[in-house]
Amino acid sequence: MSGWPFDYRSNRLWGESVPLDRIAEEIGTPCYVYSRAALAAAYEAFDAAFGGRDHLICYAVKANSNLAILNLFARLGSGFDIVSGGELQRVLKAGGDPQKIVFSGVGKRPDEMRAALDAGIFCFNVESRSELEMLDRVAREVKKTAPVSLRVNPDVDAKTHPYISTGLKENKFGIPFEEAESLYALSRQFENLRITGLDCHIGSQLTELAPFAEACGKMLELLDRLQTQGLEIDHLDLGGGLGIRYSGESPPSARDYVNALCGQIGQRKQRVLIEPGRALVGNAGVLLTRVEYLKHSPHRNFAIVDAAMNDLMRPALYDAHHEIVPVISKNDGNVKTYQVVGPVCETGDFLGHDRDLALSEGDLLAIMSAGAYGMSMSSNYNTRPRAAEVMIDGDRIHVIRERESIDQLIAGETIPSWRTAGLDCFLSPL
Ligand SMILES: *Cc1c(COP(=O)(O)O)cnc(C)c1O
Repeated sequence: MSGWPFDYRSNRLWGESVPLDRIAEEIGTPCYVYSRAALAAAYEAFDAAFGGRDHLICYAVKANSNLAILNLFARLGSGFDIVSGGELQRVLKAGGDPQKIVFSGVGKRPDEMRAALDAGIFCFNVESRSELEMLDRVAREVKKTAPVSLRVNPDVDAKTHPYISTGLKENKFGIPFEEAESLYALSRQFENLRITGLDCHIGSQLTELAPFAEACGKMLELLDRLQTQGLEIDHLDLGGGLGIRYSGESPPSARDYVNALCGQIGQRKQRVLIEPGRALVGNAGVLLTRVEYLKHSPHRNFAIVDAAMNDLMRPALYDAHHEIVPVISKNDGNVKTYQVVGPVCETGDFLGHDRDLALSEGDLLAIMSAGAYGMSMSSNYNTRPRAAEVMIDGDRIHVIRERESIDQLIAGETIPSWRTAGLDCFLSPL
């Protein structure tokens, strides 16, 4: 499978108006490639679906936090959902509007709260009573009032992979639905907090509307009750989680998803926030990799490629499926069933199982739908420098992150002078 903006033209895979083999020649592999047009189209589909309703799309930065991608979304008018002080710095550096930032996450540190208060963010999505107390204390210290939304756990089964389901009552996320009202009542007593919203997020890669609708219904019920109790809630944040097509899935479109939510919200006047991550970037990116070796055993055929679990962790972590396609397709090739694996010393280091491909050593492959939770989850395991990232814009390419060097990787490390008690011995590095 491939699909716009990555399509074949006479056996060659292109991204917008650039053949992907050209990028591999110029930049090397492994390399993430994103399409500017696809990123913008994904944002605009959500935005247009809201029509005239007061709304804010807060892109979930953790899906892909490259500055160029953040800058593109900021220019389109997007807000941002951050989960750390580091992501806050990225958004500010990329030109994001602090007044469009929501800060999520179960473990915000006081210094991160301070930085967000200094920046003047739109809202803190608070997940526990202890966090409310801490935020109030930090806000008092810096003489500010913190805008707060409580993240409520609606106890809805998102029917997705257990590692990415967050809205069930046994998850670590959010405030139990039954406790939400009493915690809202309590929040009013904090002098340095101002309650502004209501928030939930039930999971990721949801491919059906039903769980979203169920969660939305519960949140609206709660919203109405809070309003009758005299609390002024001026925004409703319904989180992210809309799935994408990796291979066989058929998730709802952005339009159908937004229409369903807005239909339920009806005439209510609150501003509506959503926090899509994957649905904005997932299908706008591919990971280019080169086949290094083919290894045939009596039982299996292995294609050993130069990308690995450190570059794209989703297969190893969630047993996730990414389509893997040749950059130059051959009509006359000898098709075999391959295990597509990386060079990392782990049996879990695979990118795809049982793929029917006609391969030769040196061939280029594109791992599709790698724009979300690819680069942002990458690591340096096995002292592998992280991949380069490129953005295509029409017929032009921009390197938006250089390939890491080994020197950058080890720059922060030092060898102590080993002056052990009494011995005063110094082992010089060789
Ligand atoms: C991860 C996350 C998102 C984005 O999820 P996607 O599935 O990528 O849309 C949104 N909100 C919160 C609070 C998250 O943790």
